[in-house]
Amino acid sequence: MKTKDTKNKKSSNSTGQVHWHSLPVDEIYRRLDTSPEGLTDKSAEERSLKYGWNKLPEKSGVNPVMKFLKHFDNLLIYILLIAAVITALMGNWLVTGVIFGVELINAVIGYIQENKAERAIRGISNMLPGHAKVIRSSQTKSILAESLVPGDIVLLKAGDKIPADIRLTEATNMKIEEAVLTGESLPVNKTTEVFPEESLPADRKCMAYSGTLVTNGIGTGIVVCTGVHTQIGQISKMMEDVQTLSTPLMRKFDRFGKMLAIAIIFLSAIFFMLGYFIQGYALNELFLIVVGIAVSLIPEGLPVLMTITLAKGVLKMAKQNAIIRKLPSVETLGEVTVICSDKTGTLTKNEMTVTDVLLANKQYTVTGVGYSPVGEIFDNGKKVAMGESDGFDELLQGVALCSNSEANKSGDEWSIIGDPTESALLSLALKGGYYGFKNNKRLDIIPFDSSQKFMAVLIPGEHFNTIYLKGAPEKVLEMSVFHGSIGQSDTNSPEWWKEQLSSLASEGKRIIATASKKVPLDYKNILLSDVFNMDFLGIVAMIDPPRQEAIKAIEQCHQAGVEVKMITGDHTLTAKAIGESLNIVKEDNVISGPELEKLSDIELEAVAKKYQVFARTTPEHKLRLVKALQSNGQIVAMTGDGVNDAPALKRADVGIAMGIKGTDVTKDSAEMILADDNFATIAKAVFEGRSIYDNLKKSILFVLPTNGAEGFVMMASVLIGGHMPITPLQILWINLVTAVTLGFALAFEPGEPNVTTRPPRKPNEPILDGFLIWRIGFVSVLLGSITLMVHHFLIQFGADYGHARSAAVNTLVAGEVFYLLNCRYLREPVLGKGFFSNPKVFYAISSVVLIQLFFTYTPFMNILFDTTPLHTRELTWILAAGLLFFIIVEIEKMITKKIFDNDSEKGGYFNPFKKIVPIRKSENGTMKSLWSNPSRNNFM
Ligand code: ATP
Repeated sequence: MKTKDTKNKKSSNSTGQVHWHSLPVDEIYRRLDTSPEGLTDKSAEERSLKYGWNKLPEKSGVNPVMKFLKHFDNLLIYILLIAAVITALMGNWLVTGVIFGVELINAVIGYIQENKAERAIRGISNMLPGHAKVIRSSQTKSILAESLVPGDIVLLKAGDKIPADIRLTEATNMKIEEAVLTGESLPVNKTTEVFPEESLPADRKCMAYSGTLVTNGIGTGIVVCTGVHTQIGQISKMMEDVQTLSTPLMRKFDRFGKMLAIAIIFLSAIFFMLGYFIQGYALNELFLIVVGIAVSLIPEGLPVLMTITLAKGVLKMAKQNAIIRKLPSVETLGEVTVICSDKTGTLTKNEMTVTDVLLANKQYTVTGVGYSPVGEIFDNGKKVAMGESDGFDELLQGVALCSNSEANKSGDEWSIIGDPTESALLSLALKGGYYGFKNNKRLDIIPFDSSQKFMAVLIPGEHFNTIYLKGAPEKVLEMSVFHGSIGQSDTNSPEWWKEQLSSLASEGKRIIATASKKVPLDYKNILLSDVFNMDFLGIVAMIDPPRQEAIKAIEQCHQAGVEVKMITGDHTLTAKAIGESLNIVKEDNVISGPELEKLSDIELEAVAKKYQVFARTTPEHKLRLVKALQSNGQIVAMTGDGVNDAPALKRADVGIAMGIKGTDVTKDSAEMILADDNFATIAKAVFEGRSIYDNLKKSILFVLPTNGAEGFVMMASVLIGGHMPITPLQILWINLVTAVTLGFALAFEPGEPNVTTRPPRKPNEPILDGFLIWRIGFVSVLLGSITLMVHHFLIQFGADYGHARSAAVNTLVAGEVFYLLNCRYLREPVLGKGFFSNPKVFYAISSVVLIQLFFTYTPFMNILFDTTPLHTRELTWILAAGLLFFIIVEIEKMITKKIFDNDSEKGGYFNPFKKIVPIRKSENGTMKSLWSNPSRNNFM
């Protein structure tokens, strides 16, 4: 099981680069001036000055000029640029200037905002720095991976990402997945032997390379290269992947932009011909009109607006401890219908404290809170410690020696680092006065694994060696012998122990059993087959109270139509008790892993739907459950922490890894990481995901109809013929003013009040669903008509064309201002609670009002844009028209909400053109949206 550095062949480099894999371990200690006790902090600090930080330089990114120019690389913008060239050729410099102005302002804003968003999102990826477990001055410590230096001694275990290039000095059952380096996804067995100098990286089995992942076993090694000097650093010299700020919705919209561009070219051609052949406009004027139509219809600000909305949302999530790794999942979060959560640490506080110790003939109670070894052990009120009885002493030794947690003493204070269950057990040993684990060297180990649910170590002794085993009690009972008492109502029979553990588990306590076995001195390795016929020592029970905030979050999820299921490795009765205190369990719906194993995939589909708590599960069960739930049409969010959880997380629609207790392997396969490991954060992220999607949709819903209304006014005027109610130049002005002010306010919109109460979004809901198409068409026509009417009535009442045009321009702008208010809620009424919740809306409106006053009342602008200052009477008309428009849209919302609600009850979404669109099922029965499970866009 364990490999050791045997060969002593010495080899050196030829190019100045050291071939660490070909050197024996002693030589490496010598060359790097280090030892198994590790470096001192002082020497590590000195080396850090010499070698620098253990990190790769960030990608410098695209050239800023190219990045800026990219904002012009879009079919719609090409149309605008062609329009600008045409008007320049016609000598109409003012129009050319305004078109360029719109483009330039838009590109500058886009460039600045995109840079800000990229920086911020890069900041998020640095929020969870990697840690490494090292030995320094003979003490085990957890340090930031970036402060590792050559010569550091690193401890590795399954689930870790290798933090630097390491020459292994110990490797027990160690397997490493080196796909990032070699492309080979099958894990490689590691040893500590010396390999020939010329071996390729994939064959250097005594090396663990930075960025690769430990999938099995444990190991120790010496850091030989850090930062850019590592293999991965040499290959890439910089961090992988700069994130592209987009989601499936945004990419779909990009494609929609192309279709829109073609439609605009087509429409412009039609209106050019109409204007020329039917209405008889002069060619000069007609060119301007067509340019006006094209410009008014192009939503140039929309891509930037969507980028900002997305970045703002993702940053907000990060502030709430939900770190998004793959941006497309932001959208999937809003579709989640079921959250499958671990218990320990996510739904519970992860403050494990041993409360009971049970031997065959005695029960002890333990005081204290958390891992701090402050507390006492009592036997019927009498304080006890090591030396109390052989059985008691051996149990304390068993749980403390069979552990990977580390206890360090500084002054009088003990600090414990490591797995919570094991830390609680070490704390118990310290409370009982057992410190022997500090000096004991283990000969071999079978690490804990949630599939086998036990761990064993081989400890050397004077007259014999000892195997200590600890794990889930059913497992340890199976591996133990009870001489002569099996089946009797003895206090040391499996039946008696099962009764005891059931009674402790039904109090919601986690139970660990321990056993030991003496083996001869020449026994140096443990095999799985050695762990049998063990002497059962006793059981230990620990509490881990539920998180109060999780109880509230579960209730919210239920209200929002999101189911919560608890999937735990713990005992069925423990899981049931905790599930009940969290209000997850309904009607005793608790089922265990072994029961799941007996079910076929089809049977599992029904069981996965019916049960809320799944106990004594293994990572394989998690994967089967995700698949079963997905076959039921559910969109699944699944949490995980252990290395074996990675497949279930990858399969889930939203894989969620734990930031604190999660392994690097799970973090690598997750869409989202919880910085605080807290269930309440998942619920918040789901609701935030809904809000971000809403806001993306609101940007579309705001920008397209305002463009539509502008285009409608221009096109209707051509159809009516005669005098244009708004000149092309004025349309360009409106575009310039509103595109860069009003829309941006929506990116800051907080979630609608109903995000926490409405059911999840239908997974097959298209972006431009019937509702959106309807709203865009309705608002475009309504606002365009109101503008034309104001113009028409003013002329009727004797106003001159100058006044009527100025009024029409201001009506269109006023309409857009009012429509911004309408858009704050997609379907709910805007007036009411939360009206002032987004001050940015009011700043944007105030700036537009000021700009419009400048436009309407300054002689300079009057000359430039052919406008006339308006009288109070005309201003009143404009305000009244805007208000009327606002009210009509609110009424329309009320009506469509009613129809929409009815349609969704029937299992479809509102589509006024086709009535009800049924939810489609894909071939395998899942109801995945076009965008769920999108191409994974990993940025951490
Ligand atoms: P949860 O979903 O609650 O987080 P889990 O994934 O932590 O559960 P496992 O880690 O699989 O559950 O643990 C299952 C059982 O294995 C526990 O109930 C306990 O009895 C035992 N166990 C847990 N940790 C260890 C350990 N480090 N060593 C030995 N046994 C352990």
